[in-house]
Amino acid sequence: MQIDLDRMQRRLAALTTPALGGTPAGGMSRLALSDTDRAARDLLIAWLRELGLTTRFDDFGNIYGRRAGREPDLAPVLIGSHLDTVPGGGRFDGILGVVAALEVVSALNDAGVTTRRPIEVVDWTNEEGARFTPAMLASGGALGVFERDWVYARADRQGRTFGDELARIGYRGDESARVGPIATSFELHIEQGPVLEASGESVGVVEGVVGIRWCRVTVRGQSAHAGPTPMALRRDALVAAARMVVAVRDHARTEGRHNATVGSLVPEPGVVNVIPPVVTFSLDLRSQDGPLLDRLTGEDIPALFAAIAAEERVEYTLEVEWAVPPTPFDAANKERAEAICRERGYSARRLWAGAGHDSQYIARVAPAMMLFTPTIGGLSHCETEDAPWPDIAKATDVLLTLVAEAANR
Ligand SMILES: [Zn+2]
Repeated sequence: MQIDLDRMQRRLAALTTPALGGTPAGGMSRLALSDTDRAARDLLIAWLRELGLTTRFDDFGNIYGRRAGREPDLAPVLIGSHLDTVPGGGRFDGILGVVAALEVVSALNDAGVTTRRPIEVVDWTNEEGARFTPAMLASGGALGVFERDWVYARADRQGRTFGDELARIGYRGDESARVGPIATSFELHIEQGPVLEASGESVGVVEGVVGIRWCRVTVRGQSAHAGPTPMALRRDALVAAARMVVAVRDHARTEGRHNATVGSLVPEPGVVNVIPPVVTFSLDLRSQDGPLLDRLTGEDIPALFAAIAAEERVEYTLEVEWAVPPTPFDAANKERAEAICRERGYSARRLWAGAGHDSQYIARVAPAMMLFTPTIGGLSHCETEDAPWPDIAKATDVLLTLVAEAANR
């Protein structure tokens, strides 16, 4: 069995043309359930049929191509990713995982290999959550995380709903088409960060997806005039908030096992000569260590903020608005992936995924794992997103072996 890198490059190029959402700057803007998404889906289905797969799509528009096994009733091995992108995104995020899944099937077909279990290629709808929030909406729907009516009612900024747009592009299928029991699942994806490139390693064996806490912090001081109020007598909510932002950054650097990010900060009333009485800011905390996340929001950060609030004579509240636990991937699949890399002489390392992926919902119902390829400059969700093809070839070769083995177990 042999990976054909030229074929992968041709397929990736065909899935990223201007008609399918390719941008003049070499990136991608293909929002879920848009006309360009429909065009990409139509192309994928044509390819799946050319490869001899049986195609279907479910009530969330997730597309499946099934390669029959010798024992057709066994649970399939699932491989795939997503074709939607963020606006001004890149050509590799998600798309590469679909191309790699197609390549696995092509390589099996070329070699005349039949497997015991079926293999299903999947394209998950709206992974990015750029048009319909939250992310991973349709894998969550198909795998029982979200109710269908709730998913269908999710609206974009123009007020168009997921359910209506799914019907409009002709991809509203039946519930009976949803993925059934899964033997095991693999997703190849770009790392979207700098770790593999920095270490010079070709393949990332993904430990799992980090846990996430989203918090909203509100700081309350006293509104006052910027002129007459002496510096020593102020209760400035923005100064206190600024100190809190720096404090969580410093704490994360010292602690060393979590990322802390303030991405939004809004002072009120936001006027040049008014000492801000109220500031709200977001706090995104991520770690592979679930108990650590609990400790951060329950003890460490409240202690830091309380000390700053006392010094600045302000009040604050911290609410956890959204929490997902860390999702470790299947241990046996990770060990086998590492062993394959050792056998072939591919440099590899384990690392945690810092961003969400559909595979984390699959991991709730079946053994799942992901492989990462390096990402040039660590840059993703931007038009210059790029990944080195020699490493992609190695990671896809590992994927092919993993799938072939799993489909014969
Ligand atoms: Zn992705």
